[in-house]
Amino acid sequence: SGKDVYAVAGNPIAHSKSPMIHQQFAEQAGQEIHYGRLQPELDGFAKAAKSFFAAGGKGMNVTVPFKLDAQAFADQLTDRAQLAGAVNTLCIQNGKIYGDNTDGAGLVRDLLAQGIDIHASHILLLGAGGASRGVIGPLLQRSPKCLVIANRSAAKADELVKIFADLAVRNEVSLESRTLADLESAQNTLHAFDLVINATAAGLTDESPLSEVAVMQVFKPGSFAYDMVYGKTTAFMKQALQRGARISDGLGMLVEQAADAFLIWRGAELAAKIDPRAVLAKLRS
Ligand code: NDP
Repeated sequence: SGKDVYAVAGNPIAHSKSPMIHQQFAEQAGQEIHYGRLQPELDGFAKAAKSFFAAGGKGMNVTVPFKLDAQAFADQLTDRAQLAGAVNTLCIQNGKIYGDNTDGAGLVRDLLAQGIDIHASHILLLGAGGASRGVIGPLLQRSPKCLVIANRSAAKADELVKIFADLAVRNEVSLESRTLADLESAQNTLHAFDLVINATAAGLTDESPLSEVAVMQVFKPGSFAYDMVYGKTTAFMKQALQRGARISDGLGMLVEQAADAFLIWRGAELAAKIDPRAVLAKLRS
């Protein structure tokens, strides 16, 4: 058929919600697209992406574990993809492959949609892997009161603070690193946080990155606890609830990053027609 072809690439990919999300955006926009799943071999991303675009594919979403491969595959990166150190959205224009990263913008829009005032928040970001790096830029651009990055091992958090030091200065944000163990002492946290984001992979195994002692330091009633994992109430979310905090999973981030990708591919003027919150509500029903 003459429909434009898109796909999400990951390994594993069978349970990805992206095809359903993008079909709903297309429906809202009154367009027809074909959106499929691709599961490249773990060392075969470039080969799979090359044949996808050679066969006329227009755009690709990229998820675990290929976001670094996608960055290497792109001919040109947006500023935010460069800063994120990873690519989750590819598109082709005049034979050239562009790499972008919409994860951070997706998180910020989901937080705003849930009424979070990022600018007025003391933020604690747990984890220093790819997901964490992808959201630091967009969070800093909202000039929060502070951003503390805490990781199990110190080196990766220190590294992120270095990478984002200039952007933090430009947005007048105090950006600091801690280890997870540091969070057990009031001396190291100084105050509880308004917004605590879990960007560690701990949620996948039903552990929390926070010890019971750290929980007492970082949450207060009125804190907002955001876990990037979705589809379950994680140990991290349970701890937050016990401290009287509000919680959210990461499904809204997934939908919002997809909305951004859809608009990159299909045209920004469609923003008025698509409704990510309605798609999110449908996914939850
Ligand atoms: P990485 O492998 O790049 O990083 C993993 C991070 O988690 C590291 O900081 C690591 O710490 C930490 N970690 C892992 N296990 C534990 C543990 N048991 N206790 C404490 N810390 C731990 O993964 P990503 O950053 O790519 O992904 C992180 C999560 O975010 C995943 O669950 C992913 O599904 C989710 N995600 C959700 C998105 C959405 O749209 N909702 C988008 C992107 C990601 P250390 O450095 O010490 O090893």
